Amino acid sequence: MVVDDVSERFDLIIVGGGPAGLAAGLYAARMNLRAVLVDRGPLGGQLLNTELIEDYPGFESILGAELATKMGDHARKFGLDVREFQTVRELDVEPDGTKVARLEDGPELRAPAAILAAGGLPRRLGVPGEAEFQGRGVSYCAVCDGAFFKGQELAVVGGGDAALEEGDFLTRYASKVYVIHRRDQFRAQPLLQERARANPKMAFVLNAQVREIRGDDKVTGVRYVQDGVERELPVGGVFIFIGFVPNSGLVKPHVDHDSGGYLVTDRDLQTSIPGLWAVGDVRAQLTKQIATAVGDGTTAAVAASQYLDRLRDAERRAATQAV
Ligand code: NAP
Repeated sequence: MVVDDVSERFDLIIVGGGPAGLAAGLYAARMNLRAVLVDRGPLGGQLLNTELIEDYPGFESILGAELATKMGDHARKFGLDVREFQTVRELDVEPDGTKVARLEDGPELRAPAAILAAGGLPRRLGVPGEAEFQGRGVSYCAVCDGAFFKGQELAVVGGGDAALEEGDFLTRYASKVYVIHRRDQFRAQPLLQERARANPKMAFVLNAQVREIRGDDKVTGVRYVQDGVERELPVGGVFIFIGFVPNSGLVKPHVDHDSGGYLVTDRDLQTSIPGLWAVGDVRAQLTKQIATAVGDGTTAAVAASQYLDRLRDAERRAATQAV
């Protein structure tokens, strides 16, 4: 690593310390690249919002936090430079192709190659009461907040894997969990639907659009419209799982993305910007699984290493011709 007044230089910058970023970091470090990984929180990304993982090959059942620690320790063991609790404000690209990660607090990080593994944030419902009661009954993380609602009735909004899986998890604490979904069909995988339907503490409110989250000093209910009729369900908390907004806006110059903001990549996961790869949940792809995130990180790290080799070869050739 070379340090000057305003910046630190590396071969590779990795933005995001979830499974995709950590796999990229492990492979980059093992290939002897000078790689730095930056995450705005502790390492683990979405692993930290998942209690139990049962679908990562080789681990029949492991706590999300434990897998996060194992992945972080593994990458560090091979020399990855990890910067936790540092927020990247933007990822810029200079005319010569240098990638610059500007941190909210700290030096600029510069490298010829970068991997964006920044995941995303939960999508907001955008109804009155949602922002006002966040942290006072409105939550986006069952593992983080479920235990605050022991013995209470709760609402979960959404119909995908997250809504049914997290709803099922919440019944460990809640006396009843109502899943409010805008259609009459769930998007979630059949196994999760079966599990939810078999859970006597779960109930389903279908074809229902949430209009407002109500409360006084904390949430007291959720108002929705079903079959043209306005109704209110008294609940102590509302957990919202209606998808995900990728953190692709971190990239300052234009980079190709789909209508949901997910970055579009080629076969080696390179974006439309040469020397910038996108991996994991920030990338347009079929599914968001730990196993696919790890595969993405691996592919991108190997592709980045080959890209750096090609850059060095070109520099050597240019230097030879100049002599
Ligand atoms: P998702 O699959 O995109 O589902 C979002 C759900 O929210 C859909 O049912 C959607 O309804 C509903 N929705 C979206 N916008 C809404 C709005 N404005 N108002 C009301 N409802 C709205 O999102 P996800 O469940 O968070 O899952 C994201 C990804 O993570 C998926 O790829 C999923 O497979 C993966 N995941 C996997 C697991 C697992 O395998 N165990 C667990 C969690 C997540 P419609 O159906 O009507 O569009």
